[in-house]
Amino acid sequence: MLTLPRLVVATGNAGKLRELAAMLDGVAGELIPQSALGVVSVEETESTFLGNALLKARHAARVTGLPALADDSGLEVDALQGAPGVWSARYAGDNADDAANNARLLTALAEVPTPRTARYRAVLVLVRTAEDPAPLIAEGVWEGAIACAPRGAGGFGYDPLFLVEQGARTAAELAPDEKNRYSHRGAALAQLRARLLVA
Ligand code: IMP
Repeated sequence: MLTLPRLVVATGNAGKLRELAAMLDGVAGELIPQSALGVVSVEETESTFLGNALLKARHAARVTGLPALADDSGLEVDALQGAPGVWSARYAGDNADDAANNARLLTALAEVPTPRTARYRAVLVLVRTAEDPAPLIAEGVWEGAIACAPRGAGGFGYDPLFLVEQGARTAAELAPDEKNRYSHRGAALAQLRARLLVA
């Protein structure tokens, strides 16, 4: 088993850090947010989730000298050829909020009949060093469809528009523990944990 007494995490998001710490309990020691070590976020210039996650992990490892973990995720809509994809956070502009991104998505799909199939994808990358030639990679997907109007108050991002359970509920109508059980990020984390146990 790969020993990771200290691991820097390339996120400033406290929620993600908590989720990661819970899933990696017993396989990694202390998880340190990159901001606590003075790492400034790198610009996400790659065109794939894997490329961006790798870029963020290598950057954090280079600056800190520690093994590093990074994730990248987003929404892929089939009728939009996979958009917004790596642009999910910035779909309606560089400083767009969730409401603006959701509004743009509804406009883009206005003429598209239901079901508008889509999926969330999350990629996690762990590097032992900045130049690690064999990063550990884990990926999770969560299949769903895009609703015609937002519903629910939980979650974040596109959750009020992301229909699951054959359209019965949106991701924003799930309890947090339900979402973690089904979600792309939960699946990627479970896979990473399994990989670490045999690494
Ligand atoms: P990041 O991986 O934190 O950069 O997330 C990219 C973007 O994808 C987010 O800002 C959201 O717009 C979208 N996204 C990723 N995961 C989720 C999710 O679980 N729910 C809703 N939106 C998500």
